[in-house]
Amino acid sequence: MTKPTGRVPDPSKPKTSGDTPTNFSTLSVHAGESRQKPGDSITDPIFCASTFTFTDTQSVIDYIEKDQSREEYGRYGNPSERVVERKLAALEGGEDAILYSSGMSAIVGLLMAKLGSGDEVIFFDECYHRSREFCTKHLSRFGVVTRQVPACDYDAMAAAITPQTKMLISESPTNPQLSCVDLERFAKIGQENGVETLIDATLATPYNLQPISAGVDYVLHSATKYLGGHNDLLAGVVVGTKENLEPVRNLRGIMGAVNGPQNIYLLTRGLKTFELRMQRHNENGQRVAEFLESHPRVERVCYPGLASHPHHEIAKKTMRGYGGLVTFFIKDADWRATADIVDAVKIPRIAPSLGGVESLIEQPLVMSYYQCTPEEREQYGIPDNMIRLACGIENADDLIGDLAQALG
Ligand SMILES: *Cc1c(COP(=O)(O)O)cnc(C)c1O
Repeated sequence: MTKPTGRVPDPSKPKTSGDTPTNFSTLSVHAGESRQKPGDSITDPIFCASTFTFTDTQSVIDYIEKDQSREEYGRYGNPSERVVERKLAALEGGEDAILYSSGMSAIVGLLMAKLGSGDEVIFFDECYHRSREFCTKHLSRFGVVTRQVPACDYDAMAAAITPQTKMLISESPTNPQLSCVDLERFAKIGQENGVETLIDATLATPYNLQPISAGVDYVLHSATKYLGGHNDLLAGVVVGTKENLEPVRNLRGIMGAVNGPQNIYLLTRGLKTFELRMQRHNENGQRVAEFLESHPRVERVCYPGLASHPHHEIAKKTMRGYGGLVTFFIKDADWRATADIVDAVKIPRIAPSLGGVESLIEQPLVMSYYQCTPEEREQYGIPDNMIRLACGIENADDLIGDLAQALG
């Protein structure tokens, strides 16, 4: 369906470096795991342990002095967590990954570790509303200044940089407008100004987009979405170099925003089928977007895989596929007429979130921006007639048939 490019590993060209296979699905099944596991189990065990024992006092001292790789206490790490962190770092092409209890705790953990009083961050303004809220309402209380510039306005972002600027932040694709950032250009603005860059690539996933190889410093995901993939867990991850992430990991050990062992197992298990699920999400997203674009009741469709999308060219160049999220607008509809269509679909369930096997549908005006003023919604790009559909892995013909009856 979509053209693989140099930016992402090409699934049609088997790639091996020495003995280590680096093809995507092989990584998602095997990376980060030991070949022989405790109890000779094929699956990674769940270590239900809040603390880890030492044989004697000398082994405690050895651990502290030599920084042996073993666990000490559950807030600092768990063997199952290390496995999934190594797997996620491998999928992302990064050196290290830190797992958090949610995507939001990953954002909070990273920014709290990296920013201090007087520092500034610059955001592209289309973003997950809680990320924006954390910066404008909470980081501000600690003296961190947040500037917002229009999404994908690279000149505005470069112009907003001051000597106090410490980080440039964007999502790609953005939520829910699905703008796609030119990551090399974004990373270059950071490098030329000595400012670190962060991409929240939750909507793309490492299967569709590899920001680290474009020069971005930190990649962040809500693993609650496609990485977990089954609408049954919350988790988040930050990927970057070991050196950059060291203070971030230390702060996580203090914050305690860690996952329980059962949750970690669900994530590891979900990742086994990651490539298969992404292939179906990509296929469903593309087919549903094409159907909606051809429907007379639909005013406009936002989907990076459509030629009509303003960032289609950059998406085609940098992404392997365009994901399951499709945003569309109902022609001549007020918020109520739009809600009637949301209420008429039978397969997608009405819920926030995305990236799981079940399709989800929502009207952003109601689900996430109900308490905003019309002016704020206008500023954030959330019109009354907008619907956000997160395609799951159901059959595309069934999803299209259902949308046809809801629109009809
Ligand atoms: C869901 C989401 C988050 C927050 O992640 P949680 O796991 O819900 O805390 C952050 N960024 C994006 C783009 C998201 O979609």
